[in-house]
Amino acid sequence: MSAETSPLFPDLESPILITGPCSVESEEQIHRAAKEISEGQKIHALRGGIWKPRTRPNGFEGIGEQGLLWLKEAAESIGTVPITEVANAQHVEAALKLDYKHLWIGARTSANPFSVQEIADALKGSGITVLVKNPVNPDVKLWIGALERIQGAGIEKLGAVHRGFSVYRDSVYRNLPMWEIPISLMSEWPGLPIICDPSHIAGNREMLAFVSQKAYDLNMSGLMIESHPDPDAALSDPQQQLKPSKLTEMLVSLSIRKAHSDDFEFDNKLEELRNIIDDIDGEIIRKFAHRMSVIEKIGEYKKENDVTILQLDRWKEILKSRSKLGNDLLLDEQFVHQFLELLHQFSIQKQTEIMNEKKAQKKS
Ligand code: PEP
Ligand code: MN
Repeated sequence: MSAETSPLFPDLESPILITGPCSVESEEQIHRAAKEISEGQKIHALRGGIWKPRTRPNGFEGIGEQGLLWLKEAAESIGTVPITEVANAQHVEAALKLDYKHLWIGARTSANPFSVQEIADALKGSGITVLVKNPVNPDVKLWIGALERIQGAGIEKLGAVHRGFSVYRDSVYRNLPMWEIPISLMSEWPGLPIICDPSHIAGNREMLAFVSQKAYDLNMSGLMIESHPDPDAALSDPQQQLKPSKLTEMLVSLSIRKAHSDDFEFDNKLEELRNIIDDIDGEIIRKFAHRMSVIEKIGEYKKENDVTILQLDRWKEILKSRSKLGNDLLLDEQFVHQFLELLHQFSIQKQTEIMNEKKAQKKS
């Protein structure tokens, strides 16, 4: 991250900072948000959703077109520009009518080439700045395709927003960052500004700083982050929004390191490999947990049938078969042996606990 200006926002130094509430909720709310934000720092654009695509119906679906003017006036009152999400041609037309110069395409929309093309057609000739969020599914080609459709409409001031990916598995993130995907976009489209949206990646306030720091360390162009004057009362995404004063504190706590441009390839590769390691470690630990739950069942079963915990033949068989597998896979013999010992030791411990628990229950 360097202190140059970005082609998207040439008047202000990078890193880019776009903030504001998830949704514009009322005229009063967006003005309050703008005022509180401006007390902390200068921003590149004031964000606010006007039309909210929610995953399920009956959530807050946005204040609608009337909010466009409120957002614009609030942005101007603090000397910045408004930016909002468009999901179809009517949204684009309404925003262009009010002279909006910055728009973004949301994750649900960028996953659909028909919708993106409709938006691209409506944008033709406008020459405005457009940011394209990654599609909800982890598909870099689909993301690139959406960017190309917008570029094809003659939009030159183009940027990407990384907001994480929705994957059906347990995770501490609301949307998995899968950093290797924006990294692959960086190498496929050199020079394209990529802004990170830590709010939708984290889904909670606690992890915002961690995700933002990671984005800075990967030399992303800046942050789009949600802030709200009264986060707990927000009509959408209350858990992940920060009070503007807290946002300032968080931003100050981040370190902006210089990019080593000549090492960029190396950094990217290293990051890609580390992400693979992170995934593998996650899998291993989940497997450990699964193994332990089966061990518990075995413990209960042995107890019910009055069988001893340690059954030497079984243990010898485990050692032999796993060592052979390790050997076939060219793993160090000692490593496999020590690992199995440790696994066995804790399995025995678990079963012993179960036996004693049962005994204690019987006594009482
Ligand atoms: C948003 O920015 O509030 C939003 C709806 O984001 P996304 O499209 O990334 O889910
Ligand atoms: Mn949101």
